[in-house]
Amino acid sequence: MDEIELMLKELTEASGVSGYEEESRGVMRRMLSPLGELSQDKLGSLICLKKGSATAPRIMLAGHVDEIGFMVKHITKEGFINFTTLGGWPNQHLPAQRVMIQTHKGKVPGVIGTVPPHVLPEEERKKPPERKNMFIDIGATSIEEVVEAGVRVGDPVVPVSEFTIMSNPKKTYMAKAFDDRVGCALIVSTLRALVGKKHPNAVYGVATVQEEVGTRGARTSAESVDPDVSFALDVSPIGDVPGIPDDQTKEKIGDGPSIIMYDKGMIPNIKLRELTVDTAKELGVKLQLSTLDFGSYDTSAIHLHKSGVPSLVIGIPTRHVHSHNSIMRRTDFDDTVRLLAAIIMKLDKTTVAGLAPV
Ligand SMILES: [Zn+2]
Repeated sequence: MDEIELMLKELTEASGVSGYEEESRGVMRRMLSPLGELSQDKLGSLICLKKGSATAPRIMLAGHVDEIGFMVKHITKEGFINFTTLGGWPNQHLPAQRVMIQTHKGKVPGVIGTVPPHVLPEEERKKPPERKNMFIDIGATSIEEVVEAGVRVGDPVVPVSEFTIMSNPKKTYMAKAFDDRVGCALIVSTLRALVGKKHPNAVYGVATVQEEVGTRGARTSAESVDPDVSFALDVSPIGDVPGIPDDQTKEKIGDGPSIIMYDKGMIPNIKLRELTVDTAKELGVKLQLSTLDFGSYDTSAIHLHKSGVPSLVIGIPTRHVHSHNSIMRRTDFDDTVRLLAAIIMKLDKTTVAGLAPV
């Protein structure tokens, strides 16, 4: 594994469901500390200031360090665990997936179970499983065994999945939590790319918390950073799998970073969008343009800070988002780092002042 693969492995395998980001934030703290001045807001977002040749404009790069997961809601007499979800899980991504409960006694492995199809009536078997009929099975047969294992109501539950390099001549990776540890890795790589460069601004790499439950860390960290421009670096859910109608997105892994032209939380700043498109053209980086009818990003909170912050989402095209096994391609990552570093070199005082709508 090369340096980027090791970083993606460590970041994606770290635990950090919304509100319980200690482990993943710890990894980010270690990776960011040689790159700038670190601080933390009171919700837990980690901020790394990489100074350039000016103290302003302040450029905020946001990547969320939390991931979707679960929380223990109730333990049955028979020793099964009802759970609530942290973030948006499609029901069909849940059954038979491994999870790990973080308890005061340590890590407890389990699997998400449902009523076995063998015992369901024919009609029921045809329907997708319902969340209310799912439970976490830790192999116990009584509530006493579950309590003895250390499980308590409120314990966070993390998906289990190993970072895997796929058998493909083009570097392709599979892991949990690319959403959004890939954004965290982009922050680290972009700050590294700026080392020794005279960028005419101050760059704040921010590992935000609690994005998946409503961009909460982005809101508080924007108060701390007070950005003049912001980028959310995240995954872009794509349509290069079977079954997507022709009039829907045709974004593909490996076809370049995605610029999100529209999502449920923000319409991007037009001039920042154009600057990004022009810079990509100069670099020979292929871009994909995407719109999202569902979901939003950290920028939905950041762009409403104070009197408004010109913002844009750059997404790594990713298959099977919000599941235990997402797939992305390396070239999209490398191209995004090149693109971001080049844009940041252009964002001086005059350019940023010119981003205001006319
Ligand atoms: Zn995300």
